[in-house]
Amino acid sequence: MTATPDAKPLKGLFIRTYGCQMNVYDSERIRDVLKPLGYAPVDAPEGADLVVINTCHIREKATEKVYSELGKLKQMKLASGGKMTIAVAGCVAQAEGAEIIRRQPAVDLVLGPQAYHKLPEMIARASRAVGDRLETEFDTVEKFDALPKTRDPDGPAAFVSVQEGCDKFCTFCVVPYTRGAEMSRNVDDIVLEIRDLAAKGVREVTLLGQNVNAFHGPAPRLEGGADWTLGQLVRHIAKIGGIERIRYTTSHPRDMDDDLIAAHGDTPAMMPFLHLPVQSGSDRILKAMNRGHTADEYRDIIARVRKARPDIAIASDFIVGFPGESDADFEATMQLVRDIGFAVAYSFKYSSRPGTPAAEMHGHLSEAVKDERLQALQALLRDQQTAFNEAQIGKTLPVLVTGKGRNPGQMHGRSPYLQALHFDGTDALLNTLVDVKITSASLNSVTGERVRAHEPTA
Ligand code: SF4
Repeated sequence: MTATPDAKPLKGLFIRTYGCQMNVYDSERIRDVLKPLGYAPVDAPEGADLVVINTCHIREKATEKVYSELGKLKQMKLASGGKMTIAVAGCVAQAEGAEIIRRQPAVDLVLGPQAYHKLPEMIARASRAVGDRLETEFDTVEKFDALPKTRDPDGPAAFVSVQEGCDKFCTFCVVPYTRGAEMSRNVDDIVLEIRDLAAKGVREVTLLGQNVNAFHGPAPRLEGGADWTLGQLVRHIAKIGGIERIRYTTSHPRDMDDDLIAAHGDTPAMMPFLHLPVQSGSDRILKAMNRGHTADEYRDIIARVRKARPDIAIASDFIVGFPGESDADFEATMQLVRDIGFAVAYSFKYSSRPGTPAAEMHGHLSEAVKDERLQALQALLRDQQTAFNEAQIGKTLPVLVTGKGRNPGQMHGRSPYLQALHFDGTDALLNTLVDVKITSASLNSVTGERVRAHEPTA
């Protein structure tokens, strides 16, 4: 990149992000960590000074995709005369760090999810060609402490990391191996960060963690200093001026305690949306997955949440074709879906992750069976999602306006139920809450007409 007169020369930073919201958040924090070093985001890897591939280990062929992308970057690095620095971050980096360096020597740095705060130091080492190119130690406390406490939000909604890691060890999942043990962030730091975001115009925060409702953060300066639960944290954040909407993701059924469920009913800022992955409706498969609950226990949690907040939208995740899944097991999943009625859900075919217990299990199913089951499940989930969206027609919903719509004169935002929503309006509405009457709905979005500026009810 070129320098403007009298400005500090900027270095181009390109980050490619794969995977979950945690990775999206981590990429934002990587950008924040590198900003003081003069790195500014660019839209393409060609010509960038630093390219970070933030990887995900969850999906099939994730590792091959990383190597294929690194092959292309190697050519760009050669074309740049070796000036491009290539870093691999995220869960594939954590799981296969040494192997990445061995297989693709063009890679300068490999760092696991707990090491982003060390990136400036690693870049300095790489530029001098000294020291280790690999940082995959688990130290979540150090990471939470070292990341910048303030940042510039991209709009009126922001993710805030409150928890990382997982101790649940579901038999299909690599997260406990790549992200480390469950660890909660200090409440005082979370509150400071959210106050700063609110002062910069953020109206909605999504509290983020792999097992976010297992949160048990220490609160040294607040109300006795004992560890807080997520319910306590949510109630406290709701009192921060400017914050009108609170969400959290991703949660585990085993950690849905009574206080958190009650907060859905008595805390107006808590949005009526709960993403609670269930994965299967068969007790036999849930046990093989080591989920630690039954299908009926899941039904009971949803019933209690709906009692606290009757209009709540329920979202979930499903894996079909887990090893040993019979027709009856799959039918139990379909029945659970019929019983609950999901507003939105994410469903995938089981795929083996090396090193996980499920990869070693007997009874792996053919791709044809997995495909057939996935199609049946997704057809049912699509019908439910469309029905949920259509049920909003005629209602007036408060919408947080986050950007321009696709068509001229159209604005885009999200409803309390996290639906994508379009309506006719002007840029002046950006970053505000407006009331929109829903006039039509489809599978993926709803459309409406602006009624008036939103008047907070609490
Ligand atoms: S709860 Fe299970 S699926 Fe979720 S991160 Fe932990 S091990 Fe993975």
